[in-house]
Amino acid sequence: MAEPDDPVYMDGQNRQENTQICLFFRQITLRRLAIGLAADSVAALTKGPSMHISSSFDGGNIDVLSIDGGDRARLAIRRDTQADFFQWFDFRAAGLRGRDASFAIENAGNASYTKGWEDYRAVASYDLETWFRVPTDYDGQTLTIRHRPEYDIVEYAYFAPYPLLRHRAMVGAMQMRPGVRAGVVGSTVDERDLDLIETGEGPLSLWFIGRQHPGETQASWWMEGFLDRLTDPDDALARRLRGLATFHVVPHMNPDGGVRGNLRTNAAGANLNREWQSPSERNSPEVFHVRERMGATGVDFMLDVHGDEGLPYNFIAGPDGIPGFPPAMLERKEEFCAALKAANPDFQTEFGYPPAPEGKADMRICTKYVAGAFSCLAMTLEQPFKDSAITPDPIAGWSPGRCRRLGASTLDALAAVIDRLR
Ligand code: ZN
Repeated sequence: MAEPDDPVYMDGQNRQENTQICLFFRQITLRRLAIGLAADSVAALTKGPSMHISSSFDGGNIDVLSIDGGDRARLAIRRDTQADFFQWFDFRAAGLRGRDASFAIENAGNASYTKGWEDYRAVASYDLETWFRVPTDYDGQTLTIRHRPEYDIVEYAYFAPYPLLRHRAMVGAMQMRPGVRAGVVGSTVDERDLDLIETGEGPLSLWFIGRQHPGETQASWWMEGFLDRLTDPDDALARRLRGLATFHVVPHMNPDGGVRGNLRTNAAGANLNREWQSPSERNSPEVFHVRERMGATGVDFMLDVHGDEGLPYNFIAGPDGIPGFPPAMLERKEEFCAALKAANPDFQTEFGYPPAPEGKADMRICTKYVAGAFSCLAMTLEQPFKDSAITPDPIAGWSPGRCRRLGASTLDALAAVIDRLR
């Protein structure tokens, strides 16, 4: 069955819409010719009708409570599928060119991570390529975005969205690079493909996964930069790493949650990063299939890429608190972090999560499970939704371009430890 993000379906739908739009404009033109539209009526037409808001697209999430006075919207974020999480939003607004608009998200104070709204600014884009920050306030309950759009249609989101079409195009382009193999490791609850990209010929088995939490789109932008450099035939460092190791990369662990506009769960309401100890083929097949494949290949290193709502920093959460974990691997973690910081000043080691006390690790989490099961270096990379407070960018904040650069820099950090992973 065709899905809403299937290009064939979209082509058909677009053609139909285009025909309707052409007819609509022809009707307007005929009417203007017939009655001789007065100048002030033309002005009213160009000023446009009152605001129109929609989130009925891949990754969209917002409920419209009301639109008042034509340029003030009262909104609410929808909860995740079969779960109470919510924070991700993504909607488009039309009809506001040159007008001071406000968008009040009234249930923000009940969202999953309310610290995420402090010093936060929403992102906006006209073309879905360039994203910029817009003034946003939080009063403890309502998150209000204020903006005067320069064009007719503008999209607002929690972070730059990464639709499934872009993921499929990225996988398609990567498989055309020399020495890259692409495959499907399994199906999701909604029967979408779980794509696996592999490259390299070395004996070490290195795993990279992203987007377990679908609202953390930073992970997808990071994957673009990481894979682009990893598969670059002209990059000597990448070539050396591909000679030492085989890379297994699942760029998007949760396409169902992504399409549904969820923050944390898949289509069955499962938080995938709490499923690693005992994944269910029915409710968390994404983890079930990837874990099976990890068992077949072995794991010598694993990085799980995320975004953090609250902290305005890039940081690593490590394999701490795991009973009997080799201390040498904790030293490798320190070396990896030092090398990443040296390669990319957007990364830092001062701020992050407090380490779990010995024996207190939550073994349902991917990093903890993989580190424990394979006695290897496994880590979670967190990127901010806000800005990087140590290296701020007032226009873009933390952005797709910076995520991509951090992904590319990760190869430098890997090169610093790859000879001592076993
Ligand atoms: Zn996460």
